[in-house]
Amino acid sequence: MKDFNVIGYCFYGFFYVFLFDCCNFVVMDFSSKLLENAVNEVSRLPGIGKRTALRLVLHLLKQPKEHTKFLTEALTQLRGEVKSCKKCHNISDTELCDICSNMNRNAEVVCVVEDIRDVMAIESTAQYRGLYHVLGGKISPIEGVGPQNLHIESLIEKVKQGEIKELIFALSSTMEGDTTNFYIYKQIEAYKITTSTIARGISVGDELEYADEVTLGRSILNRIPFIQSIRG
Ligand SMILES: [Zn+2]
Repeated sequence: MKDFNVIGYCFYGFFYVFLFDCCNFVVMDFSSKLLENAVNEVSRLPGIGKRTALRLVLHLLKQPKEHTKFLTEALTQLRGEVKSCKKCHNISDTELCDICSNMNRNAEVVCVVEDIRDVMAIESTAQYRGLYHVLGGKISPIEGVGPQNLHIESLIEKVKQGEIKELIFALSSTMEGDTTNFYIYKQIEAYKITTSTIARGISVGDELEYADEVTLGRSILNRIPFIQSIRG
């Protein structure tokens, strides 16, 4: 019983530290305003609480000054120079990303994904030779994200222009993902292009980027007609 109490107290202690850290409730008495500013900025990042931010900043202080310089330069350059591919909206260094400008890819097959993490996950399977269309999110009324906040209009325009023969829906199988798929499907239904969705080797509710390469690769090869997925 004593052991249980010790384990219980440890668990609750850990839980409260985690909770307070994540929620930035931690009150810290800084000896340096410069340190406090740096910690405050780092703790704005998702999943980084004040304690973690302090640990990261103290780590940087222990490293050679060049390390911090390279980090800040890389971030500044990223924010200043990074582009969105004008064709697929993927993050790119150039107007047209490497995938869209690759003449060996099949431009008539387009895979609809949420963001660059999904592009990277599918590319790592080496099973797909078409192009992508990056929506930049999913329709989510709860989070205030509507179709107008996503790159849906440009996708529908590509379909209208006859540029696409097959559209593969590869959004994660969540309520928001399914809603987004269905919304796009209804917009392009009249254009009689082939629509498919990745086979459900991907578990319902799973985010695409966490699927292993083999499962994701097979899911693309064994894609099924979209209409079958919404009836099933
Ligand atoms: Zn592109």
